[in-house]
Amino acid sequence: MEREDLKKSAIEEIDRNWDKIIQLAHSIESEPEEGYREHKTARKVEDIFREWGISTRSGLGLTGIKGYLEGSKKGPSIGILGELDAFFNPEHPQADKSSGLVHACGHFAQIASLVGAGWGLRKVMQHLTGGVVLFAVPAEEYVNLEYRQSLKDKGQIKYFGGKQELERLGAFDDMDIVMMNHAQTEVPGRSAFISAGSNGFVGKAARFLGRAAHAGVEPFKGVNALNAFHIALSAIHAQRETFKDEDAVRVHMIVTKGGDSVNVVPSEVRVEMYVRAKSIEAIEESNAKVDRALRAGALGVGAKVEINNTPGYLPILNDERLTRCWTDNASLLIGEENVHRLGAFGGSTDMGDIMHLMPGIHPFTGGFSGDLHTKDFRLVDEEMALLIPAKISAATVIDLLYGEAAEAKEIIEQFKPRLSKKAYLKLLDSLFYKKLWDVE
Ligand SMILES: [Zn+2]
Ligand SMILES: [Zn+2]
Repeated sequence: MEREDLKKSAIEEIDRNWDKIIQLAHSIESEPEEGYREHKTARKVEDIFREWGISTRSGLGLTGIKGYLEGSKKGPSIGILGELDAFFNPEHPQADKSSGLVHACGHFAQIASLVGAGWGLRKVMQHLTGGVVLFAVPAEEYVNLEYRQSLKDKGQIKYFGGKQELERLGAFDDMDIVMMNHAQTEVPGRSAFISAGSNGFVGKAARFLGRAAHAGVEPFKGVNALNAFHIALSAIHAQRETFKDEDAVRVHMIVTKGGDSVNVVPSEVRVEMYVRAKSIEAIEESNAKVDRALRAGALGVGAKVEINNTPGYLPILNDERLTRCWTDNASLLIGEENVHRLGAFGGSTDMGDIMHLMPGIHPFTGGFSGDLHTKDFRLVDEEMALLIPAKISAATVIDLLYGEAAEAKEIIEQFKPRLSKKAYLKLLDSLFYKKLWDVE
């Protein structure tokens, strides 16, 4: 069969299963789950893989699930990824009432289009060389650091990011190229975007420890941990003029504990934060400044501060040849004028980590409005958000694995990894840092 006929056949099969793809998307959207706890979501994917009768592996990185599609001949293996997790934003009208979890990053759509691509590719695999791994992965959103620390303390995970953990476990070892797509809200209608890169980051948890005292009777006996944090925050703000524009540094935080009782001098204040920047060097440099500021806060009031740094994500590095292949297919499906090249993305993803090790692509696709992560995020165009990304992925895989899989083989051969797996894991380990600063 000709390559174009295979694409046509896969696309028709995706259209035929349109209702099931939408149903899956809405089912996942209506039951948002936190990273490393996406059991129901993973089960929904697994049920479909079982219905197809393909071989699967589950429980990868606690909840990840893989389904394998085999071509007629041995050859390169292409991973198509979809992220399982939601995160907390109780302001969102669709947020789960009890947990505050919501799919405001569009990951439910990734899973639907991942499965959609699987539907299309199943139809044509016998004409391709190599294989496809459909891989629903856990815990992309780097949130609830305390919970992840508890999993780490119990030995259930080592790294906080799902793909980091999967890399450690060897779950990417059976793939040569990885691809996925992520929601974007820039243009609600037909649109696809390739970014020039993204920020990476270090995750941080800080705990200011003071001394409790009656806030009215004898506050002079206390050491106010909230005031320590307040000084630290001012000191962080005072660093901002030293951040270089080209490094795109972002330092942001939330307070997860601000005290215990309003009539008691706060003895413990906890914050979670990210230090983001465009390069590993800029992340490390900015992170050292933030650590210094945290210590300054403790010093200011005679408190202690425990700093707990964890390796965040590396910047996106889209493989250029794979990008061309993906954008050519996106152009065919939605028109060249709707496929855009963007500057660097201010956010971060653990897909960046994997792209340091093997050729990969992390494009963005439209069909959504509002801003990512906010209460206004909505799916507005089901075809663009769910169906078209599935078709682009399937068509791209066909280009990669057609004939003797020459395109995939060339991409693999030309790729120069930025880090070996060993060096990558060593880098992550070097970013762990936990120390209690007692300034007295
Ligand atoms: Zn997100
Ligand atoms: Zn996301």
